[in-house]
Amino acid sequence: MSVQQSRTATSPLKLPLQHRFASELEGCCVPWQGAEVPHPAILEYNHALAEELGLPETLNSDEGARLLCGMTIPEGCRPVAQAYAGHQFGNFVPQLGDGRALLLGELTDREGRLRDLHLKGSGPTPFSRGGDGKAGLGPVLREYLMGEAMHALGIPTTRALAVVATGEWVQRETRSPGAVLARIAASHLRVGSFEYLAHRCDWALLERLAEHAIERHDPDLAGDPDRFFRLLERVTERQVDLVARWMGIGFIHGVMNTDNMTLSGETIDYGPCAFMDSYHPDTVFSSIDRYGRYAYGNQPNILQWNLARFAEALLPLIDRDDIDRAVARATELVNEVPQRYRTAWLAVMRRKLGLLQAQADDEALIRDLLQLMQEQEVDFTLCFRHLGAAADGDRAPLRALFRAPEPLDAWLARWQQRLASEDTAPEQRRETMRHADPVYVPRNHKVEEALEAAVGQGDPGPLHRLMEVLADPFTVRPGLEDWAQPAPPAFGPYQTFCGT
Ligand code: AMP
Ligand code: MG
Repeated sequence: MSVQQSRTATSPLKLPLQHRFASELEGCCVPWQGAEVPHPAILEYNHALAEELGLPETLNSDEGARLLCGMTIPEGCRPVAQAYAGHQFGNFVPQLGDGRALLLGELTDREGRLRDLHLKGSGPTPFSRGGDGKAGLGPVLREYLMGEAMHALGIPTTRALAVVATGEWVQRETRSPGAVLARIAASHLRVGSFEYLAHRCDWALLERLAEHAIERHDPDLAGDPDRFFRLLERVTERQVDLVARWMGIGFIHGVMNTDNMTLSGETIDYGPCAFMDSYHPDTVFSSIDRYGRYAYGNQPNILQWNLARFAEALLPLIDRDDIDRAVARATELVNEVPQRYRTAWLAVMRRKLGLLQAQADDEALIRDLLQLMQEQEVDFTLCFRHLGAAADGDRAPLRALFRAPEPLDAWLARWQQRLASEDTAPEQRRETMRHADPVYVPRNHKVEEALEAAVGQGDPGPLHRLMEVLADPFTVRPGLEDWAQPAPPAFGPYQTFCGT
């Protein structure tokens, strides 16, 4: 704990922050404040989200920039750095924690939901473990862009409220402008938060954390004698649903460590994530994921692995009197994850294929299409999108994606028959597919181009354009053909970095 804390000035801005986490869970966090930076300036401000949160317009100002990078705090604010542990690439690290982040507190949004206001890149904390506590502008903009894209795709996600340039440089592989991301989340409770306390055998605090999680995410379970097991069930349901949705849009998180897995079921920490172009389950983009632990097709296995870690952390709460019984119940639930996932995945994939009723052979039909896509290296997003036109009789765009379309024709015949076997109105099928099969996703080359312009040339134009396109991913719009296309061959193999 050698980090020095700067004295943070009080902001004249007022925010209706609560401090539930800071006051209820003192042992899980450290009161901390942000670092002074030379020239804070808001680069991006999420007006729609600010509106959802009922935030004052004055926050989008020079004063707001100081507040949203952690340099000043609103009166009464009690920022904390949260403690958590985590399994990183399968290895347990007993103490990670917010090494470059602060929880300013919780806000109540217009729908009455509690949301965390959190700053990432706000300077070193006692959890920095030798890191500088800062963030580079590129990764911060990337997180902003990805979060908004996921939100528009209907995937539960944390979202960025603002990007604040700090006016200082941070040293990574190259020198990069520094920035802070102001992030909004249903909460920052992670599997790793529970592992932290379980590892320390702090059962009283573990129970408080679990009660806090229930109050926050599953208030209907309050007072239920079996609430801790049921919390495990709820988190399982949410995470199973989340990963099934990721799979349905070709999203690869890239770093599914247990500290990056939320209880809320929101996607968090857009580091090395990326969308897959041509379909292959082994697809990995992250430079540090050398063995493909977090490859596209392995995400459901890791989901189960992570849920097992969560279950282990909860064991002492599940059954106080009989640990063997707790183990048996938790094991049974964790063993059910593949089946639960399969059901969720089938529901996602059926919609993508325009199937509104479940039939026994659907899984084979879906898997056979994926197999063809894999063999012929077909673009994931375009293939499903063009399926919609094929259902209406225009097979040409879909066939054009396949080097050898004959096996596709055979598959299409089976699929047409399957479509005809249910009495769904064509319009209903069309609408379902239109909302299940996006046309615009954050294509890697477009993301890189936008970030290069924004960070390298100080031109946010391409980023704004890309964000506009991705804000409505399901509606084809003339003039946007380029954003729907996979990377040109010259773009080459793609690699992403954690950006820490
Ligand atoms: P992430 O890969 O962003 O999920 O971060 C994993 C852990 O490393 C978390 O505990 C972070 O707070 C910490 N961390 C990442 N980057 C930095 C940094 N530049 N300085 C301090 N801690 C960091
Ligand atoms: Mg993380």
